[in-house]
Amino acid sequence: MADRRNDRNKHEPWRDPNAQPYVRIENVTKRFGDFVAVNNVSLKIYKGEIFCLLGGSGCGKSTLLRMLAGFEETTGGSIYLDGQDMAGIPPYERPVNMMFQSYALFPHMTVEKNIAFGLEQEKLSRSEINSRVEEILGIVRLGEFARRKPHQLSGGQRQRVALARALVKRPKLLLLDEPLGALDKKLREHTQFELINIQEQLGVTFIVVTHDQEEAMTLASRIGVMNRGEIVQIGTPTEIYEFPATRFVADFIGSVNMFEGRLVEDLPDRVRIQSDQLGGVIYVDHGISAAPGAVVWVAIRPEKITIQRAQPADMRENCVRGVVKEIAYMGDVSVYLVKIDSGQTMRVTLPNMERLSDDERILWDETVYLTWHPGSPVVVIQ
Ligand code: ATP
Repeated sequence: MADRRNDRNKHEPWRDPNAQPYVRIENVTKRFGDFVAVNNVSLKIYKGEIFCLLGGSGCGKSTLLRMLAGFEETTGGSIYLDGQDMAGIPPYERPVNMMFQSYALFPHMTVEKNIAFGLEQEKLSRSEINSRVEEILGIVRLGEFARRKPHQLSGGQRQRVALARALVKRPKLLLLDEPLGALDKKLREHTQFELINIQEQLGVTFIVVTHDQEEAMTLASRIGVMNRGEIVQIGTPTEIYEFPATRFVADFIGSVNMFEGRLVEDLPDRVRIQSDQLGGVIYVDHGISAAPGAVVWVAIRPEKITIQRAQPADMRENCVRGVVKEIAYMGDVSVYLVKIDSGQTMRVTLPNMERLSDDERILWDETVYLTWHPGSPVVVIQ
């Protein structure tokens, strides 16, 4: 998965203790009757970030976004935008714009009229409106479609009109609720990169709600993973993927093999875990801080496991035997489901770097050995 922004953009204000957040959410709660939709969430978001709120259906991410926009009142806690308390400030007076899942374009208006609409409401001069609309049409690459109506556009083009309409008002903060939900996979991927480029050009701060983890990984400077109304982890895409803090996050982001075990050795530079579920010992090359004998969970990503026919010389640690039960050819990778001796099934992903002959390729019902590097497993204690 991509963590493009993390590689490209070394500016990481959240690591600077003196940096002032642009958005500060402090202990925000939202109740609908007895139901707690957002539970005591605190979050700091900095200027120029694309911050993704990621979580499954009903976890409260849209409700949190709606409170930022002012469409929903908080039950408790505070929201500050650019240092200003938003309590009691209506949506239209906040320095925020929101782009909705359904783009809600005016069907009878041309693209340029749709984009100009918000500026006309603000009663800007005609020349100011024209120059701003032209500029934004260039940025979202819709200049040649300016005179078309929404029904004469593709889904991706309509999405860009909606984005242009939100951006033309030059909000300091743009909230996007599942902005690419209506697009097919290919267009979605393409548009994700366009969104990043537009955001970088304009320097607007984006907060994006999505349930799609690959989208969050591609877009985000940081991700806030939500579960049942709470933020369970905040981090860059790499941190969230490589160092999930809990079983929930490890399982939610990407695929993972998870084994319960007991800590038998915990030193600063190595940990050993006995796992009956795995049927063996897992050796990890860094320490964790947990009590000896503690129950822990070990997560191993499928792409970090090697699969081979030959039995390794040393099978004491980080090695299990199994039989291939399923193979799914996905083009770029193949997924192997291997039933290991303990009875559990492990998932292994192999890149299809070259076309292999049937003799070379590992096939169904073959006995194989799975191994992994001691730097690969992640140990979590909750
Ligand atoms: P999805 O991806 O499905 O849109 P979400 O994470 O955005 O999910 P929210 O829309 O924030 O979820 O809703 C969080 C919870 O709050 C849900 O269980 C929802 O049913 C509930 N909820 C949202 N709005 C209301 C409301 N006006 N009255 C009562 N319950 C609500």
